[in-house]
Amino acid sequence: MSQNPVIFWFRQDLRLTDNPGLAAAIRHGAPVIPVYILDDEGEGDWPLGGASRWWLHHSLESLGQSIKKKGGGLVLRHGPSLDILRGIIHQSRATGVFWNRRYEPDIIKRDTRIKSQLQSDGLEVHSFNGALLFEPWEIENKSGSPFKVFTPFWRHCSSLTPDRYELHPAPPTDGDHWAPASLLSQLKGQSLQSLELLPDIRWDSGFPERWTPGESGAMDNLKQFVDGAFENYGAGRDFPAQRGTSRLSPHLHFGEISPRQIWNFLASRSPDSRWRQSQYVSEIGWREFANHLLYHFPTTPRKPLREEFEAFPWQDDEDQYKAWCGGRTGYPIVDAGMRELWTTGWMHNRVRMIVASFLVKHLLTSWNRGAAWFWDTLVDADLASNTLGWQWAAGCGADAAPYFRIFNPILQGEKFDPDGTYVRHWVPEIRPIPTKYIHKPWETPDSIQKHHGVIIGGDYPAPIVDHREGRQAALEAFETIKK
Ligand SMILES: Cc1cc2nc3c(=O)[nH]c(=O)nc-3n(C[C@H](O)[C@H](O)[C@H](O)COP(=O)(O)OP(=O)(O)OC[C@H]3O[C@@H](n4cnc5c(N)ncnc54)[C@H](O)[C@@H]3O)c2cc1C
Repeated sequence: MSQNPVIFWFRQDLRLTDNPGLAAAIRHGAPVIPVYILDDEGEGDWPLGGASRWWLHHSLESLGQSIKKKGGGLVLRHGPSLDILRGIIHQSRATGVFWNRRYEPDIIKRDTRIKSQLQSDGLEVHSFNGALLFEPWEIENKSGSPFKVFTPFWRHCSSLTPDRYELHPAPPTDGDHWAPASLLSQLKGQSLQSLELLPDIRWDSGFPERWTPGESGAMDNLKQFVDGAFENYGAGRDFPAQRGTSRLSPHLHFGEISPRQIWNFLASRSPDSRWRQSQYVSEIGWREFANHLLYHFPTTPRKPLREEFEAFPWQDDEDQYKAWCGGRTGYPIVDAGMRELWTTGWMHNRVRMIVASFLVKHLLTSWNRGAAWFWDTLVDADLASNTLGWQWAAGCGADAAPYFRIFNPILQGEKFDPDGTYVRHWVPEIRPIPTKYIHKPWETPDSIQKHHGVIIGGDYPAPIVDHREGRQAALEAFETIKK
């Protein structure tokens, strides 16, 4: 090998197409060593949850195969990022490191340190935006401050978006842009299995039928969505029994697809520019907003943005929390959501809002505990979006639902799952209950319960908290912190 190589460090950008860091490394002209490092400690306060590890295993498998098909080989390593990078640099005599940026506060600190250490070792280091339409620091309101309300934030962003983005093509199949096999074998990457990302107890058996992690799975999902549910997204997105949303969240989180690719794809399929004002595009905007907030308010994964909530009198009852996690609260729409989450690693957005509201308001359990459970069980667990979602539900974040607006889980169920299809699927023990009672099965007359062989309080729990009492207690708790 005549020329010293450079390293492309894959992180949450597990794709070959529209990967600006990878494209720049290849443009640089030196052979590229593609590396992924599993760095548990480097993730700081938020090491990967169990469901995310499952996703990562399969995503890396897919990425490794794609790189192989293009004539390269992905080097996998496990350990502290800086040590691993320095080891590879030492062995390969690499002269530069390229990566795409991440925006979690602990990662920003770690990456800043790594960048300056590598630069002082004499390396060139380049980082890029591969995850967002806008860098969080590029967007500010008229007084030069970060936005705290979504609508003006997204209006401002929308005025800056182009009709189409210039995408970075995937590396061509022929060509000698990858480091040669002889060097890769010297570097002795680890096997995917040795990263031990898959769980010992196979609670993940429901995941494979729902998901195809990896770049082509992401693109297939996007195509299926745009050719199908997109048209009716505004109305269909709230009904959890329908496949009304794109289910791209884990693909976006792991960077198997970029928001710019979604943008261009929508543009390519639409005869006019109306799609730009669609509800779907504004959801992509919420993802941008979540990252904007996390960047500007880095303490929010632990602390409420609205400081008065630090004094909130949470009750944190352990048995109730366990009943919530396990989908045994006695409220079918809540239990269905929690079981969907456990079985598939994902939950419909409307149901996320319902279960989150129920935990923080009816059960007076702190939003951090809900966020932690989601963190471990969601395949799309994302520090920016999860923090935003939980602080929204608890009323303590930017642009949050007012605290006193308390979701009624019975009415929410009746409105968004009117014939009970969703709850019957996920809570099979109440399947025979007539639709009239499906969202409040405790009201089913005894004779009907007996007739259908479903006893509430036996086969399925009675509600762990009465809705009216829970609501009242939540309002009283809120009074104690109101200014
Ligand atoms: C309590 C709570 C916790 C949440 N935790 C997460 C999380 O950890 N990771 C995560 O990706 N989303 C989270 N969300 C947001 C939202 O529920 C999911 O992004 C959405 O359900 C993913 O499904 P989808 O891909 O089919 O979404 P679609 O409706 O198809 O939306 C397209 C994309 O827009 C983005 N998006 C949509 N809604 C939101 C939102 N409210 N906030 C930020 N981005 C959004 C996602 O990237 C999504 O893939 C949370 C919401 C709540 C209420």
